Amino acid sequence: MTIKDLVKAFPDANIKIDEPLSKYTYTRTGGPADALIFPKSKEEVQALMKWLNENDWPTTILGNASNLIVKDGGIRGATIILTDMNRITIEDKTIRVLTGAPLIEVSKRALEAELTGLEFACGIPGSVGGAIYMNAGAYGGEVKEVIKQVTLLTRKGVIKEMTNEEMDFDYRHSIMQETDDIALEVVFELEAGDPEEIKAKMDELSYLRTSKQPLEYPSCGSVFKRPTGYFTGKLIQDAGLQGYTWGGAQVSMKHAGFIVNIDNATATDYIELIEHIKEVILEKDGVTLETEVKIIGQDLVSNEKTGRVLIDKAKTSLKSTFSKISLADESTN
Ligand SMILES: Cc1cc2nc3c(=O)[nH]c(=O)nc-3n(C[C@H](O)[C@H](O)[C@H](O)COP(=O)(O)OP(=O)(O)OC[C@H]3O[C@@H](n4cnc5c(N)ncnc54)[C@H](O)[C@@H]3O)c2cc1C
Repeated sequence: MTIKDLVKAFPDANIKIDEPLSKYTYTRTGGPADALIFPKSKEEVQALMKWLNENDWPTTILGNASNLIVKDGGIRGATIILTDMNRITIEDKTIRVLTGAPLIEVSKRALEAELTGLEFACGIPGSVGGAIYMNAGAYGGEVKEVIKQVTLLTRKGVIKEMTNEEMDFDYRHSIMQETDDIALEVVFELEAGDPEEIKAKMDELSYLRTSKQPLEYPSCGSVFKRPTGYFTGKLIQDAGLQGYTWGGAQVSMKHAGFIVNIDNATATDYIELIEHIKEVILEKDGVTLETEVKIIGQDLVSNEKTGRVLIDKAKTSLKSTFSKISLADESTN
């Protein structure tokens, strides 16, 4: 089965071929997806998954791509990005959300509906699906505290309804990390609250976030999970790694737990820098850092690497030829 067969089977689907994922990832790095699909409804995702599974296509799911690094070789097979599947409906104290919706938007809608419980999420830049997958949290709150029900889809296209307990939420963990199921819809259950208090809390947390995090650069948030008994940022700072730069990637000067893309970084720059930090901290402190960010996709194969090096060299040599020609032109004027 080829990409042509996929396009033929889903003539109305929005499918982009050989699409650079750096356009969608928060780090602004990553190679191309063979086929990047933008479904708009649960039914569309279900039909796609059935077809892709029956035809043995490897399938990757993306939310807002704010917690992952896609390697420079990109992703083979199908990549489904859920950000166009984003309906939010509010009834009484429950908010029903299709999982491509931005968590920040859900948090804003909760404020408008005078519901409390999602203030902590007002600056987490992921989709609701990614937040469920990761059990995202901040400033003492976690999504697990406000979730009533999750609709999952298995890779074979079967729907499952899950309660909060069945999701097995823990620190940056949910059962989806083992089952590989896809979250389609989530029901949040909140409490009635005072809109002024809700807004004040959100303003305070937004201020804390903007003052402490390097939001002015592309990044993937905190790169590492918090090791028990330590603060990752402090370990990295004390090891003298703050500001350490590898290619276009840099350990943020504002928050040492973040790696920022300061100058056209590649995913390889990110991954090599992560490995370097892990090695230094293990040697210095005996602490094994575990990445919170997910690293997915394929490495550039060596002939692609060689090709890129050759193209870069050709560009450099063209630039210098042109500058010599223009200098020669200037001297003849
Ligand atoms: C500046 C910045 C600040 C951040 N601050 C925080 C913070 O305070 N707290 C926090 O917890 N995180 C934070 N993050 C990390 C990130 O925003 C969260 O982990 C978020 O929940 C990831 O959601 P996403 O949609 O971007 O997921 P993605 O990055 O797209 O995906 C992450 C993982 O989830 C899977 N996934 C996504 N959607 C689905 C779905 N519907 N079904 C099945 N699997 C799915 C993907 O396959 C992947 O394995 C921050 C990131 C940035 C860049």
